[in-house]
Amino acid sequence: MQLRAVSLAVFASVLLASCSQSPTGRSQLMLMSPQQLDKMGEQSYQQMQQELEINTDEQTNAYVQCVSDELIDTLPEPYRSADWEITVFADDAANAFALPGNNIGVYNGLLDVAENQHQLAAVIGHEIAHVIAQHSNERVSSNMMVGLGMQMGAVLAETQLDDSTAALAMAALGVGAQVGVLLPYSRAHESEADKLGLRYMAAAGFEPAEAAQLWRNMAANSEGQAPPEFLSTHPHPGSRIDAINNYLPELQVASRSPNCQP
Ligand SMILES: [Zn+2]
Repeated sequence: MQLRAVSLAVFASVLLASCSQSPTGRSQLMLMSPQQLDKMGEQSYQQMQQELEINTDEQTNAYVQCVSDELIDTLPEPYRSADWEITVFADDAANAFALPGNNIGVYNGLLDVAENQHQLAAVIGHEIAHVIAQHSNERVSSNMMVGLGMQMGAVLAETQLDDSTAALAMAALGVGAQVGVLLPYSRAHESEADKLGLRYMAAAGFEPAEAAQLWRNMAANSEGQAPPEFLSTHPHPGSRIDAINNYLPELQVASRSPNCQP
């Protein structure tokens, strides 16, 4: 009984020590340090660069770099001054991602679906928002809680941890490099990334309304065939288009106007 009380006290203090707030005011559980997440993101990024063919076309890279730079210039510190690495992958999937450690990946296929700089900014802004709101940390942390919960259960039952429980805890701790980093995000994370992405777009002078058109293009692109990779890890466009349109009146678009040429 005493062991149980001590364990619960430890459990509670871990929770108290690691709750913080996202940029939209949502409370978050963060058990990892940003440095740990950056390392996981960096390892995953290097793995992607080794496994996928890289598009070295100068014009294409300059276009993606231009849109990314305009967005990065509007970010809160330390992200604005960070050294972001951007890679265009020679892959037909309509996909993009950003990882902790300030890494961005854009696939060729996305450049067919995003018709102009504003639509490309919508996707890159959304992906950068996942990083800034530390969604990976939250997700890995909740995986860890599952592991901790099992360990707590084992402690309470005074039994030994079996191998699979230990492996789960280790994986959640980041010993398995890719765990949690490239999996789909939850709905709460998605709508938060949409909102923040629209803010970055507007601050950079891109047209936020083009974000809704991007999602329409994504949906049209997927008709009659398997959905683009981006859609398979993201909620259906219909619901997010409504949410985007509802949020547009709150945004103030900066007077600057980026001019990134595809
Ligand atoms: Zn997303």
